[in-house]
Amino acid sequence: MLEPGIIRKLDEVVVNRIAAGEIIQRPANALKELLENSLDAKSTYIQVVVKAGGLKLLQIQDNGTGIRKEDLSIVCERFTTSKLCKFEDLTQIATFGFRGEALASISHVAHLCIQTKTAAEKCGYKATYADGKLLGAPKPCAGNQGTIITIEDLFYTMPQRRQALKSPNDEFQKVLDVLAKYAVHNPQVGFVLRKQGEQPALKTPASSTRADNIRIIYGAAIAKELMQFSYKDDMFKFELECQLTQVNYASKKSILLLFINQRLVESAALKSVLDAVYATYLPRGQHPFIYMSLTLPPQNLDVNVHPTKHEVHFLYQDEIIERIKQQVEAQLLGSNATRSFYKQL
Ligand code: ADP
Ligand code: MG
Repeated sequence: MLEPGIIRKLDEVVVNRIAAGEIIQRPANALKELLENSLDAKSTYIQVVVKAGGLKLLQIQDNGTGIRKEDLSIVCERFTTSKLCKFEDLTQIATFGFRGEALASISHVAHLCIQTKTAAEKCGYKATYADGKLLGAPKPCAGNQGTIITIEDLFYTMPQRRQALKSPNDEFQKVLDVLAKYAVHNPQVGFVLRKQGEQPALKTPASSTRADNIRIIYGAAIAKELMQFSYKDDMFKFELECQLTQVNYASKKSILLLFINQRLVESAALKSVLDAVYATYLPRGQHPFIYMSLTLPPQNLDVNVHPTKHEVHFLYQDEIIERIKQQVEAQLLGSNATRSFYKQL
């Protein structure tokens, strides 16, 4: 006889662990969430220390607002946030966070410790978490205003995930990549990334310029070939801020830093259009460096497509991409005036 399965409600810890595995896929995802929290907290200085590519240790220290002592008991529960109240607020959201899931997720897949101090409090507090819950009472401690989040043994609760992430070096490169992109986009903030016990692998001063940070991080070869332009489109209501290499520069590695309303995102559609524009000028297999920051009216942007927020949907996507293509083409044509005979028609 064929018997139906018995349906049961999953245990809360199981539910949360499954969800956490989707949000925190590797150290670089965890770092992105933490960086966004530090930026949301108005930090001007953010320092990251890693061990084994972030798998053994991922620590981020900021000088932001800190977290109120009375919130420490719920901060790592799922869906607790200081940023969103009503669903409708999502249409105007000005913070990176709104789901209240990052710290909760991390506490389900790693050992998590939060040390924090607000301006109002006399001393700081240190608290540890597991599976969304505070372990013991927060302990008073000395410290400057801001927050230190310490994550150890990432994915110790998920041995398969841990095993799949074999190479600490690969993970470190991905961590470096995320930090580099945020550092370029946020030149007003000073960033430091180091492997524990080593000299910084990346360091940008607070209140530098975007061009400075591109040079510091991506090197002089790229910096000296950069063209900068801005563009405002009244028809489709967007603004574009761009730094891209002229056609004299080409590299095997394609670098695209894409921010939409300050969020680091990916867009396969935009990337392929940009590749196609450059392909007319660059030798086969060679690529540009492109930094692009697109600003749209918040109500035209859906940021809630995926928990990692890697992807966004926006109104007039095809039209906007077409306009961006025209702008980039015009820039390249200008920069290429002296060598336009190279253009392969
Ligand atoms: P979300 O960012 O979506 O609100 P998180 O789980 O990332 O959710 O963070 C939960 C809350 O913890 C935030 O709303 C914020 O109030 C607080 N928080 C997290 N990180 C920091 C930080 N570095 N500085 C100040 N507050 C923070
Ligand atoms: Mg967050």
